[in-house]
Amino acid sequence: MKKAFLLILAVAISSFSFAQQPPFYKNFSVAVYARAYEVRDMADTKKLEESWKLISQQVGIDKIYLETHRDKLIVDERTLESAIKYFKSKGLKIAGGITYTIDESNNFETYCYSNPEHRKKVREIAEYTAGHFDEFILDDFFFTSCKCDLCIKAKGEMSWTNFRLKLMTDAARELVIDPARAVNPNVKVVIKYPNWYEHFQGLGFNLETGPSLFDGIYTGTETRDPVFTDQHLQQYESYLIVRYFDNIAPGRNGGGWVDPGAAFYLDRYAEQFWLTLFAKTPEVTMFDYRQLQTPIRFGQRGTWQGAGTSFDFDEMMKPVKMKDGSIVHPTTIARAAGLAFEQVDRILGLLGNPVGIKSYRPYHATGEDFLQNYLGMIGIPMDISPVFPTEGNMILLTESAKSDGQIVNKIKDRLQSGKNVMITSGLLRALQGKGIEDIVELRYTDRKALVNDFKAGRGRFVKSSKEILIPQINYLTNDSWEEVSAIEGATGWPLLHRAQYSRANLYVLTIPENFSDLYFYPDEVLNRIRTVISQDFNVRIEGPAQVSLFYYDNGTFLVESFLNEPVTIKIIARDPITTLSDLLNGESVQGDVRPVPFFSRQTTPERSFDITIKPHSFRAFQSK
Ligand SMILES: [Zn+2]
Repeated sequence: MKKAFLLILAVAISSFSFAQQPPFYKNFSVAVYARAYEVRDMADTKKLEESWKLISQQVGIDKIYLETHRDKLIVDERTLESAIKYFKSKGLKIAGGITYTIDESNNFETYCYSNPEHRKKVREIAEYTAGHFDEFILDDFFFTSCKCDLCIKAKGEMSWTNFRLKLMTDAARELVIDPARAVNPNVKVVIKYPNWYEHFQGLGFNLETGPSLFDGIYTGTETRDPVFTDQHLQQYESYLIVRYFDNIAPGRNGGGWVDPGAAFYLDRYAEQFWLTLFAKTPEVTMFDYRQLQTPIRFGQRGTWQGAGTSFDFDEMMKPVKMKDGSIVHPTTIARAAGLAFEQVDRILGLLGNPVGIKSYRPYHATGEDFLQNYLGMIGIPMDISPVFPTEGNMILLTESAKSDGQIVNKIKDRLQSGKNVMITSGLLRALQGKGIEDIVELRYTDRKALVNDFKAGRGRFVKSSKEILIPQINYLTNDSWEEVSAIEGATGWPLLHRAQYSRANLYVLTIPENFSDLYFYPDEVLNRIRTVISQDFNVRIEGPAQVSLFYYDNGTFLVESFLNEPVTIKIIARDPITTLSDLLNGESVQGDVRPVPFFSRQTTPERSFDITIKPHSFRAFQSK
């Protein structure tokens, strides 16, 4: 009886056990950020010992950021030094942190960089922090939303965007970086950019000058809940924003940053960590020390749990065996992070460098905000670049490309060199009368259509599960052609349109008035869009939206489903791929050869593989 009980206990204990000292994971390091409030409370060493034990028994932590200032709270020197000493004794790397807020609870009230007293304070905080740390990071708030009379006067005739871009670039150098280096010549100053990159310029975050001014950058990958949060960030952004910032500052993007905000089901919290790491970021920061002590609530167990999903709530609740043989029972969300890291660490080392369809976002551009993330959510592997991409057979340009005055000429050059371009209906509208008609005469009309019938190429009519409002685009018969059509009543409009120019094709992708209606495009429509756009990839997916594809340059790839139900999709692989090996369970599958339709422009044979993905889960494959 006793023996049987021990056996059950041994099986129940998670196979993973923590060492006492970092590093904990093979492919990345993990940091925790402690706000000034919690660092202040570290003066109570007994409580510090308890809280650190609680967190570090559930997740491996290699580094801690100790914040010196937030909301005008400055942690005193004695507390700071004793906290530094404590965490050094645990083998952790130590860095400082600054949040330049006056009052975070008042709409994230930031400092005024026109006000001499505020400027003095900002400088003093940087100097103080540099005096205690060889590295510090600026949390999300090194921007300004101030419109006081001093700022209005200083702005003069400039736009708020141009005024704040210059103001904050100067403030970075004059008030933070130079004063910090004067105190500590070895100090590394890192800026963490938040998740709202499309709107940075309006508040003074300067992606053009910032990355070269600071010693490093860091990426906010906290997408939280797309529906319930005001930002409505799509889940895919947790991956794509890392790729974008990697392209802005190659080799200098230090990591991604996740918090447990709006994680109504804990899978959402875990997903953000995976997606960040799928972009091969070297470090993940968990925000923050206080939130990691939040008790796990049973209400955070998704209704789909119990079927072996990637994030397994019941697995998370299993006791953890420590290196010294003691057993710890998980109690807080730190364990959810720990489980997510353990799982993804098994496969990350097998993945190559992430690659995707290049999409150009000139610095400080706006237009069809965050659209690339919605495209990622419909299974198109995306990549965002601050430079116009000249390589590859296909690129995707959204409305934000309009802010490059040379954009039409750049599109023409690509087409004339035999490389395709896909633009969105939003960019078509923005370029009307600005030269795009020199490539093809299309008209983005004022008319809209409410549609739910579609036809992809010569395929059958298919229906969407809801009506979708789209702009009506008109074209000249026999000058350009519909690849995918939307139909209503006795008429129809292009949903994906092709215009031949010189040695290549310009495609126009109609974007619904509500971007998230892309998720209601029927599978056949999505499949056709994916086929056209994925010309540079040997693998694509077929099936519904809200399943993403992450592609790497060594033939590995991941598929992640954000759906609440299991889903079966097809992986379509080009010659010479015949086999997919599952990187998590080692199984291999042979694909079925797919007959080439007689009207197809396709030249090489393809194979298809049926793959089932559980809710909020990912699968990883090597193609051979
Ligand atoms: Zn001001």
